[in-house]
Amino acid sequence: MTISGLYIHIPFCPQLCPYCAFASVAGRDDLHGAYTEAICREIDGWGGRLGPVGTVFFGGGTPSQIDPALIGRMLDTAGRRLGLAPDAEITVEVNPGTVDREKFADLENLGCNRISIGAQSLRDPDLQRLGRIHSAADVESAFAAARQAGFANISLDLIADMPGVPAENWRFSIERALNLAPEHLSVYSLTVEEGTIFAARRRQGRLREVSEDEQARTLEWTASRMCRAGYEHYEVSNYARPGYRSQHNWGYWTGSSYLGVGVGAHSYVAGERFWNTRDLDGYLAAVAAGHSPREGSERITAALARSERLWLGLRTADGVQLAGDEAARLRNSGRFAEWSAAGYAGLADNRLYLTGAGFLLADALGLELERILEDSAYAAA
Ligand code: SF4
Repeated sequence: MTISGLYIHIPFCPQLCPYCAFASVAGRDDLHGAYTEAICREIDGWGGRLGPVGTVFFGGGTPSQIDPALIGRMLDTAGRRLGLAPDAEITVEVNPGTVDREKFADLENLGCNRISIGAQSLRDPDLQRLGRIHSAADVESAFAAARQAGFANISLDLIADMPGVPAENWRFSIERALNLAPEHLSVYSLTVEEGTIFAARRRQGRLREVSEDEQARTLEWTASRMCRAGYEHYEVSNYARPGYRSQHNWGYWTGSSYLGVGVGAHSYVAGERFWNTRDLDGYLAAVAAGHSPREGSERITAALARSERLWLGLRTADGVQLAGDEAARLRNSGRFAEWSAAGYAGLADNRLYLTGAGFLLADALGLELERILEDSAYAAA
């Protein structure tokens, strides 16, 4: 069975950031080799059943924390057991504090062709507030080193809406990021997740989250600035130069199948979503014993698949293709007429899409869209 993407989770980090809720560990660097072998074994188990894959994404955690030779070992296994498309997009996430020109050159020689730099900010005080190990200058050095090593497709991740950080700091970060001329930029609002140090600070009243109005203002300014700089706002949180959309993430947003391997990795194969344990030792023990590291699964019913298709599609610039009867119901809805009049959405050839203003309300509009389609389906029944 063809799958669009392979996600490989590398959980090792130089230290844990206080806002992080990912499956990540620090101080377990002695396990890099054993973990790589476990990943290869997991991929091996899918050989002959899935593939070939069009994209590979090494995410984390911090993939650049491990020796590139181990990345090469995993890629080689994926190529032999699943098969890689000749033009496969192969992305490696890197932390600017863990890379140099030699490491980038090694990754490039292995066939990796896209680098995603976890910059998060380009202001040192904000990076310190986030507990990052690197400076803004490290981000710029990492970017230059990746370019020198031959990477023509580089993405930067930035975190917007940091508590206590004024809007002008964010604008400064964006301008400094634009000076680097990345092909792609992801902008995520900081979410305070339970179980993190930031969540504990919030409980103690030491951290005040940014209001929804402030978030909307930041995202509006960012979208306008990025579009003026020639980037396409192709997903609510993502901007790309023409031809540089993230193919791997595009697969997630458009309902393609993908396999995730490693600690905490999620997969979507043959109408089933399943995920691995987040416990590193449990993962290693399960795979070594020849057992599945799977922790849970859910069958994606037709109703759930439809709901996800609407929600995720609405978050992309391409919008969502509606069935003829769905489009007719929407056209007859007074609420949709209001969205159109307010400039939030349009409907062309049964394709529903949000405008830049609509992107700011994507979640609320997705919820309403589902209600409109369901209510009118009941009324028609
Ligand atoms: S580097 Fe990334 S994955 Fe690792 S702890 Fe920090 S935020 Fe989490």
